[in-house]
Amino acid sequence: MINFLNLKKINTPYAEDLKAASARVIDSGYYILGPEVRKFEQEFAEFCGVRTCIGLASGLDALVLVLRAWKLLGKIKDGDEVIIQANAYIACVLAITENNLKPVFVEPDADSYNIDVSKIREAITPNTRVIMPVHLYGYLSPMPEIMEIAREFNLLVLEDCSQSHGATLDGHRAGYWGDASAFSFYPSKNLGALGDSGAATTNDEELEATLRALRNYGSKERYYNIYQGVNSRLSEMQAALLSVKLKYFWPEVENRRRIAERYLAGINNPIITLPKVANREQHTWHLFVVRSAHRDALKHYLEQNGVETIIHYPKPPYLQEAYKEMNHLSFPLNEAIHDQILSLPADPSLSNSDVEHIIEVCNKFRA
Ligand SMILES: *Cc1c(COP(=O)(O)O)cnc(C)c1O
Repeated sequence: MINFLNLKKINTPYAEDLKAASARVIDSGYYILGPEVRKFEQEFAEFCGVRTCIGLASGLDALVLVLRAWKLLGKIKDGDEVIIQANAYIACVLAITENNLKPVFVEPDADSYNIDVSKIREAITPNTRVIMPVHLYGYLSPMPEIMEIAREFNLLVLEDCSQSHGATLDGHRAGYWGDASAFSFYPSKNLGALGDSGAATTNDEELEATLRALRNYGSKERYYNIYQGVNSRLSEMQAALLSVKLKYFWPEVENRRRIAERYLAGINNPIITLPKVANREQHTWHLFVVRSAHRDALKHYLEQNGVETIIHYPKPPYLQEAYKEMNHLSFPLNEAIHDQILSLPADPSLSNSDVEHIIEVCNKFRA
């Protein structure tokens, strides 16, 4: 079986480095918010081209806490609206509703699967305060256009970069564009830790200070709490491991790009639609997503032929049982996309023969 993602195989070449980093943490006696966290925060801020990075416990926390900090800073309030694409991940919507904000969904673009920028203006109301572009699959949303709309209507922009570490647009990386950005380092992401972790990035000093307090029980000074904060600290161990993974980030992305190029050149089947990407050199291919009207049969056929695939995601957030009050909403294009998408393996450790096999099986598939 060709696995969708083989994390053991991906991490094995770095095992010695990872073990040395863990040993350094064990020997240091520092386990929470110490020198490794400060070092990784600095490295990652530089990587993104922003002033600062705040290490957190998960990508969800990064989204939740940025919105929470904006509320505490008086920039948004209960009931305000956040514009987001209808095919966002559940974490994005949880972060909005957890903060008593209202998600306002917009259809995705049928080619890039990111937010359809031409639909944003009509979704804006007097209560709109935030646009949350979710850069899906490793490809950036049209940020110059989104920032122009944000400036025109005085809106904040929170980028969800959890699938798009290092992806670029006009020479700037994910996390550079918005007022703040959220990253997940869940092990399967392109920059993945060996456990849960995440980060927020921003150029805004006030937001930075609020996030640093919020992640640590709302305190700037130990045992003096200025906010009702949470415990969302990045651990020294994960930070040390992330610094190692960051060193090997680009060679892995190069492998993903090579695999994607071979799929694009090799898969030729009228009932499988390949990704249509305007600027391929900017894509980091966290996911290689194809579409087919016969998706379930294709998934089954690939499995029968030794290829594991995953659907990201089978159901949009507003149709989930958790959001019964939104179940009446309908976004026809988005729902068609959800019924047709399938992620092929884009594991950077795939061998050439694995990739050839996957191409061959796709090309033999008949409805
Ligand atoms: C993975 C992911 C998240 C959540 O990250 P966690 O670290 O699992 O909390 C949020 N948004 C998107 C788009 C993701 O892919």
